[in-house]
Amino acid sequence: MTFTAPVKDMQFTLQHMARWDMLTQADAFKDVSDDLVAAILNEAGKLCEDVFAPLNQVSDQKGAVLENGTVRTTPGFQEAYKQYTEGGWLSLSLPEGIGGQGLPTVLYSAFADMVSAACMSFSFCPILSVGAIKAIDGAATDEQRRLFLSKMVSGEWLGTMNLTEPQSGSDLSNLKTKAEPIGDGRYKITGQKIFITYGDHDLTDNIVHLVLARLPDAPEGTRGISMFIVPKIQVNDDGSLGVTNDVKCVGLEEKLGIHGSPTCVMSYGENSECYGTLLGEENKGLQNMFVMMNAVRVDVGLQGVGVAERSFQRALAYAQERVQGRPIGVKSGSQVPIYEHLDVRRMLYSMKALTEASRAICYAAAVQHDLARHAPDEQVRNSAAARDGILTPVAKAWSSDKANDVTSLGVQVHGGMGFIEETGAAQHMRDARITAIYEGTNGIQAIDLVTRKL
Ligand SMILES: Cc1cc2nc3c(=O)[nH]c(=O)nc-3n(C[C@H](O)[C@H](O)[C@H](O)COP(=O)(O)OP(=O)(O)OC[C@H]3O[C@@H](n4cnc5c(N)ncnc54)[C@H](O)[C@@H]3O)c2cc1C
Repeated sequence: MTFTAPVKDMQFTLQHMARWDMLTQADAFKDVSDDLVAAILNEAGKLCEDVFAPLNQVSDQKGAVLENGTVRTTPGFQEAYKQYTEGGWLSLSLPEGIGGQGLPTVLYSAFADMVSAACMSFSFCPILSVGAIKAIDGAATDEQRRLFLSKMVSGEWLGTMNLTEPQSGSDLSNLKTKAEPIGDGRYKITGQKIFITYGDHDLTDNIVHLVLARLPDAPEGTRGISMFIVPKIQVNDDGSLGVTNDVKCVGLEEKLGIHGSPTCVMSYGENSECYGTLLGEENKGLQNMFVMMNAVRVDVGLQGVGVAERSFQRALAYAQERVQGRPIGVKSGSQVPIYEHLDVRRMLYSMKALTEASRAICYAAAVQHDLARHAPDEQVRNSAAARDGILTPVAKAWSSDKANDVTSLGVQVHGGMGFIEETGAAQHMRDARITAIYEGTNGIQAIDLVTRKL
């Protein structure tokens, strides 16, 4: 089944639900006309329909594999990533000062929504890198910016997020990875992490890992966590690639869904030769990581929107074509497409309504994020920052919960065929499951909303 990027729905959401009108009052976006938005969304739609959507089922069946210590991604991902970077999509909403295009975050959100619908297991790779770029941009030294930022903004190198350890998931206070200063500005990193998305891959020559670790004299708990830039290949002073760092993927998880997205067990300094540099201040790593996490949390909500959209489109197409039964009270004559049955319509309308509502919440969060930085009035900036704070856990948790509901309905619309992998409906349900878990489970989002944001 083909995928059609829902460009008109996206434009409607931007214009009528997400307060796009307020954004265009900001100087930074005064040149972002409706025509430009339409051109960007249509172009993005073509890339998603033609390049990413055909890879979705392939990535489910031929997921990432670990071969001789290197992760090989699904066939077709390398070429698709090339088109992604060549089209400038990664830098769409990054600041112009670091080589980005300075467009509103909410346009990147619409793009992330489409890419997730087209191929969810690919989508998290650039999303995480954009989050890593934001964390580096917020805290890096001039030297770190020079060595890493431009290559990451162009997409030549990709970034990752390394928090989770076996004993330290929702609660990072128990984190054990160590960082010891060696006296030349670098730190020796030792330890192991689990569940690191795209912790290794064959899409770029270098991978820039942002790693949370503890200094030798660090206070206990979350107040003693620092963040480090740990490249897969060490970077020479002139920016060229140097020797390989001792950071590697030592195992790949077998998962329920998103098989194309490698989930890596990472080892740092097994042979004592893993080096990184401190990003930001000592013991302030969690604050830096929250810059990345807050951006990525809304994007996980958008993954939910995307996978729900794809599931809806598939269910609608099936319901129009599958003939079974007659309307209530009609005893003879031709059978009708199941679309004619009220219960099937109920499911389809629910899927559509929940998907659109999730989209509206996620785009609204992104617009508030943009306003918090660019609104001309300080009071508007402050209230937008507060709304962004409240909407972030809601966008993540509600949209991902609803993605699970919608994709389950998508299976139901297919009847028995929904349970059979061949139709593709089951893949959406399996893929959607993770969105309620990673980037902080939805239970943790609820705690964030009630204890910090309200
Ligand atoms: C496919 C995949 C990709 C991932 N990618 C990354 C990545 O790139 N980088 C990275 O660092 N991590 C990554 N993760 C880790 C992910 O963010 C964690 O799995 C998630 O945050 C939950 O942590 P946990 O698995 O340790 O669960 P636990 O913390 O053990 O939680 C188990 C259950 O207890 C609940 N719970 C825990 N604490 C509380 C509390 N205080 N109050 C109420 N309920 C609570 C949780 O909500 C959950 O339901 C990934 C995980 C997966 C599966």
